[in-house]
Amino acid sequence: MTDPRPADSRPVVPRIAAERLPELLRSMPKAELHIHIEGSLEPELIFALAARNGVALPYPDVDSLRRAYAFTNLQSFLDIYYAGASVLLREQDFYDMAQAYFRRAAADKVVCAEIFFDPQTHTARGVAMQVVIDGLHRACVDAKKDFGIDASLILCFLRHLSEEDAFATLEAAKPYLDRIIGVGLDSSELGHPPEKFARVFAQCRELGLHVVAHAGEEGPPAYIHAALDVLHAERIDHGVQAIHDPALMDRLARERIPLTVCPLSNQKLCVFPNLADHNIGALLAAGLAVTINSDDPAYFGGYMNDNFLQTFAATGLDSDAAYQLSRNAFEGSFADAATKQRYIDLLDETFLAFAH
Ligand SMILES: [Zn+2]
Repeated sequence: MTDPRPADSRPVVPRIAAERLPELLRSMPKAELHIHIEGSLEPELIFALAARNGVALPYPDVDSLRRAYAFTNLQSFLDIYYAGASVLLREQDFYDMAQAYFRRAAADKVVCAEIFFDPQTHTARGVAMQVVIDGLHRACVDAKKDFGIDASLILCFLRHLSEEDAFATLEAAKPYLDRIIGVGLDSSELGHPPEKFARVFAQCRELGLHVVAHAGEEGPPAYIHAALDVLHAERIDHGVQAIHDPALMDRLARERIPLTVCPLSNQKLCVFPNLADHNIGALLAAGLAVTINSDDPAYFGGYMNDNFLQTFAATGLDSDAAYQLSRNAFEGSFADAATKQRYIDLLDETFLAFAH
């Protein structure tokens, strides 16, 4: 049975029976566009790196650290997130962290990962930019060889820090720009609107970097407008608050701006305390280029497949939505046109295989 699509570029995609949906979600190829690599640090690896580097942690063991992952909002998470990152000191630490993520991503059929990193979290502790980028870049190169994942790096500025600090970070990164595809903006959103970084992002665009920004996670739709109009963001990270602004919804749909939505993160940080109440279905129905991502998977209870499986189970999304979400991510990636087409062909093949 087939599902005739509206007259646009999308092919006719077979609808997959509901009982096969979990298997389809696990098997279909995916792009992950919103993953903070420091947020993939599992408690076990935090303790292993702490032991290797002689770092004292404010938690006696793995279980007590994991128990502290009961967040009430973005800030309560960030406090623990920065404590966890304190164990990262050497090039090999950054490599090991990223490689652990790529191993999990490969198991979830991620074929393309554009990963965020927060250099200021490390440079503020005296770790050199080169150490951070060397380790992460080496892991990205090996991700292709070891796991078949096309991996690239997006440098994020911490928005709770100053414009001056962001400029200094960009300056420190300039020798390594050939290993970075773009820049982003993350950390505490409320009170730190995109306008604060207008000049930094202008310079990044002049340097030929792609631009993305977190906006509309906890912050108002105005922050999404500013990310688009002031920073010229090509993707909006989260963006779920757009639902409160009909004109913005129309624009996001019309311009096909990708939204990198992170359902389990939204649940854990109480943006949508119940996954069943998440607005992802409404965003999709409004024609927005929504994608599913894991954000900080070690802290928020799951990687890509957990996000897909739990979201679909809670909201009742069907196989058409699965196809659209995965396709949106491939189209919204910064891969070249031929590579995007290869990903989409792979997605189509998976759906055809499931239809038989
Ligand atoms: Zn994020």
